[in-house]
Amino acid sequence: MTSHSNESGHQFRSIERLVKGLPTSDGAGVKLTRVLTQQLQHRLDPFLMLDAFRNENPEDYIGGFPDHPHRGFETVTYMIAGRMRHHDSAGNAGLLGPGGAQWMTAGSGLIHSELPEQEEGLMEGFQLWLNLPARNKMVAPSYRDIPSPAIPEFTTAEGVRVRVIAGSSHGVAGAVQRPDTEPLYLDVHLPAGCRFVQPVPVGHNAFTYTYRGSVQVAGTTAPDRHMAILANDGADGVCVEAQEDSRLLIVAGKPLNEPIVQHGPFVMNSTEQIQQTLRDYQAGKFEAAEVQVVSA
Ligand code: MN
Repeated sequence: MTSHSNESGHQFRSIERLVKGLPTSDGAGVKLTRVLTQQLQHRLDPFLMLDAFRNENPEDYIGGFPDHPHRGFETVTYMIAGRMRHHDSAGNAGLLGPGGAQWMTAGSGLIHSELPEQEEGLMEGFQLWLNLPARNKMVAPSYRDIPSPAIPEFTTAEGVRVRVIAGSSHGVAGAVQRPDTEPLYLDVHLPAGCRFVQPVPVGHNAFTYTYRGSVQVAGTTAPDRHMAILANDGADGVCVEAQEDSRLLIVAGKPLNEPIVQHGPFVMNSTEQIQQTLRDYQAGKFEAAEVQVVSA
């Protein structure tokens, strides 16, 4: 497939596939769309899951996500609207508000809850799961709350606002860096008629998720509430353009190329490790986790 290229000096990845996602519910009845499902875990390695939630009706979010365990990967929650309070098995707590993120390394395991801190109004955001390399799956759990003002951002000469949650963009280092998977996580606000180019290494898997308006990715439309999986076609950049005021996530990372075995909230490299995880969980080892809080 031929990539587009131009004065930026980059070639632009085309859209390989548009994905609408699967409406489902999780936790205590929270309605959400599972955009990155288990079938896409190898194609989008190192990313394991993306959930998008956008609910006006409190009945669709009020139950939240009561106590549940995780092991073997990282969860990245990014809020657009609304407030969620989290607690974990080590007694840590935090409040996640609009524009803020929480980066949690589940590592060897913890139990936590994520509950709405509001009884009405819009609740909107995303949860992305990022895999850990095999050798780091059993690291001590930790988390970092990153309030909105602590997320680096910049505005291009054209007026495109870019929030850099992870990785770096146009010389601006994001809030989080990860050496093994080199994740890039951008929230891009494009005014109508504007264009934004982001370099992405050739070997990295990449996708966009439009959550307002509609964008063109290398000339093909990625409509509201759609993920566009970007082709690994040898191109080293992503180009997005908006016909109307639009917002999207741009996500990319370096694949781990290791076996992925998921059992619900546990993601390991083998079924033996999953069985050990279930034994550890039943033996109460997750309750005892000492969660390290990394200051923002
Ligand atoms: Mn969770």
